[in-house]
Order: sequence, then structure tokens, then C-alpha cells
Amino acid sequence: MCIFCSIVKGDIPNYTVYEDEKVLAFFDVNPTSVGHTLVIPKAHYSSLLTCDPEDLTHVMKVAQKLGNQLKEKLGADGMNILSNVGAAAGQSVEHFHVHLIPRYENDAEIIKFAGIEKPNFEELLEKIK
Ligand code: 5GP
Ligand code: ZN
Repeated sequence: MCIFCSIVKGDIPNYTVYEDEKVLAFFDVNPTSVGHTLVIPKAHYSSLLTCDPEDLTHVMKVAQKLGNQLKEKLGADGMNILSNVGAAAGQSVEHFHVHLIPRYENDAEIIKFAGIEKPNFEELLEKIK
């Protein structure tokens, strides 16, 4: 069984930050910053891209609420809010989750976008439409 489904079921212990009928939020077991929290739908979806839109909306509403709570209570200066989709993007647990990563001034550089050579944006637009 999926590890996050096991957490939802109560078979694996967790530090629950928030819970309702459809959503669970808990501390990441291997945090990248103090307060690193995961928000998940209780129903299993492999990623954000396959999540039912209503569940997705609810997950994001909870993520916003908890994001503000973490920021205020922990005195974070900012926050990275992200969801990895697919192994190529670094997804290691195939149950949709949103990372709330509180950031503190002068903390270690956790996330950085490297630049690529600019593509032909016109061609690119045509391709994705
Ligand atoms: P991903 O790499 O898929 O975006 O993120 C998965 C996250 O889940 C990782 O940051 C990892 O530390 C966390 N994680 C994996 N297994 C467990 C677990 O059993 N309990 C908790 N609390 N977090 C987990
Ligand atoms: Zn699952």
C-alpha cells in the first residue's frame, strides 16, 4: 500500500498538523526546513495532475491556511509551496502532496532555478495550444 495511504489509515504514526474529513497535514519526516509540512488529500491520487479538482481546491485552501499559520507561529520570513510531479521532477511518494517549506532569512539555499538558453517562445506557444 502507498505510504501516505498508510499514514491516512493510521498504520504509520505522524505528527498531525491539521485534519478534516478529506485532508491531512503532517510534518515531513525528513524536513528541509523547520516546520516543513505536507498537505495531502485522504483519497489517493498519484499527483496534482491526476487529483480530482474539488479535492485539489480543498487541499490548496488548507495549504493556504496552514501556510499563514506556520509563517506567523514560526516567524518564517517566506515559504516555498510546491508539489513535485513524476520522478523526473523529484517526486518520491506517488500520492499527491503539497510541500509547505517555511523559509528563514539567511537559511541554506534550498531551491534555485537554473536558467536555460531562451527557447523560441512563439514556437513553444503553438506547440502547447
Ligand atoms: P516528494 O519527494 O515526493 O516530493 O516528497 C515526499 C516527501 O515525503 C519527502 O520530503 C519525504 O521526506 C516525505 N516522507 C516520505 N515518507 C514519509 C513518512 O513515512 N512520513 C512522513 N511524515 N514523511 C515522509
Ligand atoms: Zn496513497
